[in-house]
Amino acid sequence: MADGIPCNREWFDMSPDQIVSAVADAGIVGMGGAAFPASIKLKPPKDKPIDAVVINGVECEPYLTVDHRLMIEKSEDIVEGIRIILKTVGAKKAFLGIEANKPDAFEKMKMAACAEIDVQMLKIKYPQGAEKQLIYALTKREVPPRKLPFDVGVIVQNIGTCWAIKHAVTECMPLIERTVTISGDAISKPANLIVPIGTPIGILLEHCGISPKTKKIILGGPMMGIAIADPNIPVVKGMSGILAFEKLPKFLSGPCIRCGRCLDVCPLGNIASTMAQAIESGAITEYDKLKVFDCMECGSCAFVCPAKRPLVQLVKQAKYEAARKKELHKK
Ligand code: SF4
Ligand code: SF4
Repeated sequence: MADGIPCNREWFDMSPDQIVSAVADAGIVGMGGAAFPASIKLKPPKDKPIDAVVINGVECEPYLTVDHRLMIEKSEDIVEGIRIILKTVGAKKAFLGIEANKPDAFEKMKMAACAEIDVQMLKIKYPQGAEKQLIYALTKREVPPRKLPFDVGVIVQNIGTCWAIKHAVTECMPLIERTVTISGDAISKPANLIVPIGTPIGILLEHCGISPKTKKIILGGPMMGIAIADPNIPVVKGMSGILAFEKLPKFLSGPCIRCGRCLDVCPLGNIASTMAQAIESGAITEYDKLKVFDCMECGSCAFVCPAKRPLVQLVKQAKYEAARKKELHKK
């Protein structure tokens, strides 16, 4: 053992299966929020060969900066993590996308990268961090509706996941801590902290100077995050940000005025107004045609809607009810 590190091993001497086991044993999950087990992504189905690894360094949600900081401070570890992933899935090329508002991270990663890693600066665009959008932006491959990145020969990993994989594989380090952004207008000392999984978020908010006038706490980013009522919950593996706000916009929802703005901004070309109408009237048979299940809940439509329609909430509700019906049907 070196400096408290559980082990010290050379990843290039390990087989892909040994690497997958090391990642599974360490409990590594997607650190961008999805918390999908990383070991499963590293072992794609045999009939879906992977020739490209896409790395998400976009971090397009406002306020969140954990990946930005990691790229500046841990660029070499991240590159090692990417090389481990390339070896494990048998791909020759990785594409790392970083938005143009992080030129310092772009420079750091470009300096650290090896020939197999193509570091690209992408224009600022929300929701560029969504898997299908990012794959297209970096490789020009389109993932069809209801298909996965595997289906076009790609796996996607986030910056924090690459960092965690590096430590799991070379140091047997389990996922017992993560980086979290603490920010928002109710926070006097915003910070990116490395904290143990399980830390009560109230302690972190106090540490960063939360205002007593706080009206809302959000886990994740302001566009896709979830508001919580009680800060006495623990940090979990997929939690990239904790935001606290004093000033809240007033939302008074009204009827749809058919302005079409939701259609203009939807990255999938969904007609959110029609989708919402179908959901409200319980027209389940229309969901597939209207691409309700493809909606990534990015919130762009709700953000621009002048009538403040609860478009994302309706989609979430529709998906939840459909999943519940499917479960009941199984019994
Ligand atoms: S949340 Fe709205 S804008 Fe985003 S994918 Fe769904 S329908 Fe489109
Ligand atoms: S943006 Fe809002 S008001 Fe305009 S069409 Fe879409 S749902 Fe209706």
